[in-house]
Amino acid sequence: MPDIIQLLPDAIANQIAAGEVVQRPASAIKELMENAIDAGARNIRLIVKDAGKTLLQVIDDGMGMTETDARMSLERHATSKIRRAEDLFTLHTMGFRGEALASIAAVAQMEMKTRMGDQELGTLLVVEGSEVKRQEPVACEKGTSICVKNLFFNIPARRNFLKSNAVEMRHIIDEFQRLALANPDIGFMLQQADELVYDLAAAKIGQRIVNLFGKTYQAQLATCQEETDQLKVSGYVGKPDFARKTRGEQFLFVNRRFIRSNYLHHAVMSAFEGLLPDGSFPFYVLFIEIDPRHIDVNVHPTKTEIKFIDERAVYAVVRAAVRQAIGSHNLTPAIDFDADVNLIAKLNNAAGETREAYFDERFSTALHKHPNNTDNWEKLFEGLERTPTPSRPVEDTPPVHTLRFESAMNQASTTSVVEDKPLFQLHGRYIVKQVKSGMMIIDQQAAHERVLFEKFVSQVKNKTAQSQQSLFPQAITFSPSDFALVLEIHQELMAFGFRVEVFGKNTMVVNGIPAGVKPGNERELFEGLIEQFKINQDELVLPLQENLMRSLARRAAIRSGQTLEQAEMRSLTENLFACTTPNYAPDGRPTFFILELNKIESYFR
Ligand code: ADP
Ligand code: MG
Repeated sequence: MPDIIQLLPDAIANQIAAGEVVQRPASAIKELMENAIDAGARNIRLIVKDAGKTLLQVIDDGMGMTETDARMSLERHATSKIRRAEDLFTLHTMGFRGEALASIAAVAQMEMKTRMGDQELGTLLVVEGSEVKRQEPVACEKGTSICVKNLFFNIPARRNFLKSNAVEMRHIIDEFQRLALANPDIGFMLQQADELVYDLAAAKIGQRIVNLFGKTYQAQLATCQEETDQLKVSGYVGKPDFARKTRGEQFLFVNRRFIRSNYLHHAVMSAFEGLLPDGSFPFYVLFIEIDPRHIDVNVHPTKTEIKFIDERAVYAVVRAAVRQAIGSHNLTPAIDFDADVNLIAKLNNAAGETREAYFDERFSTALHKHPNNTDNWEKLFEGLERTPTPSRPVEDTPPVHTLRFESAMNQASTTSVVEDKPLFQLHGRYIVKQVKSGMMIIDQQAAHERVLFEKFVSQVKNKTAQSQQSLFPQAITFSPSDFALVLEIHQELMAFGFRVEVFGKNTMVVNGIPAGVKPGNERELFEGLIEQFKINQDELVLPLQENLMRSLARRAAIRSGQTLEQAEMRSLTENLFACTTPNYAPDGRPTFFILELNKIESYFR
């Protein structure tokens, strides 16, 4: 039997490859514009006719190509951007496959003019279905202009598959907007037939957003900025009341490459949690900068997907950045980075320092960290003639001192001076406490969750968790999957102070619970813990230990509706303000707020 396998002619191979790279005018435009960006263009002009179906042209003032390179650029797998496989991991260009020009040239009539800055004359190339029809020197501007006519002229099935001009134009504008957002330092123009749709001068990103989307966006944007040693997140988010019912204005970029990621979209949405009307989507333009070695862009030919080596870390930083942005614009309280993000890892990393550092950043004047340190105490009274001793009861000091004192302790105080004022429980849910600026209202449950959470963190970190033995060990039967879960996290449970053992099929017996957690209802506590753990697992992306700590804090905390004694309220308040992050429960709910005196006054005017 004769051999039947043959290599495909290049033209056909290119056409097949084109199916991957060029699906519609917008995808050709994306490739051409990315090439222009890679070529260092300062200005990029896009011209389309008939939504790109009859003509699309990208003109740039980038570095241009030599005659040989111009010819080479049309070959498949011809690229100047990577040489070795390793280069893939340090990629700083948009392109790298060397497929785009070959693909476009295979399915259209293409005309390229290109000239390098130091050349007299440039090169003209005319190609049709991969076949070079003309090649000659030409006088042209520095840079490259590529004109693509009659896309899919030689593949009628593909051409028929194109949608209406309106739809194709929408795709083009999408690509154009993404590239314009990712590269605000480049000037962009979009010309549709004779109409100038966009004329965007190089600008800062905020200005670029406004130029693209309109002036109304100006007042609606909150700046985002968060940085860890691994990655940086920056950009803008729209305020919640600006959210739209339709998706579309959500832009996420990784190293200036537009990506789609449901996972990171979720991170943003979760930061907006509770602030958005149901079914609406906030505007956002977020840039993630990360060492290219920590990502893999080589996932899909059209490259809007990406793989992160440490997806969870990215999630956490994005969420924190957005939370922060919303918070700093007084829309919701700013959540603390470490309250949300892998707190344990952070604490472990920087050992004791972290706590101090975070603390200092946040409450530089508050004293509860050093209640015995007289130096610090005295700083509070700087500018006063007399320095009262810390132990002096409030009644003994002149009122002005008390005021000054309280102003520094505005948010946080564990001193007897302030605590002497009786606390008041409101509706069995809130603790009311007088502070300098007015009235502090503490959510008892949220506060206790915070206190327990930080206690667990420190116990697990220092391996000091104690167990208290149950008087009446209780057996709990789980569903098979929950039982498997309990086994999976058994070691962590032990580290917390739980003592649980297998007791038959799908059954565990609880012999002990963490010291400090109210005994008596081990079954409910344990079942609740597992339930909460699962909820957190579905909704949040947390390291296992942190999830456990949060879940247990949630379940073991005193509830709303529970009457508290004066001493209980006092100790809860004290413990709360001894926390690293007293302002929020572990899940980001505020623990307290202050009703300002002048606000109260205004009600009586
Ligand atoms: P890739 O971008 O993946 O390298 P392309 O097929 O898009 O592959 O382009 C092939 C090569 O042609 C590029 O590597 C680059 O050297 C050159 N090239 C393409 N477009 C331009 C341009 N606008 N300006 C300068 N060089 C270009
Ligand atoms: Mg390219």
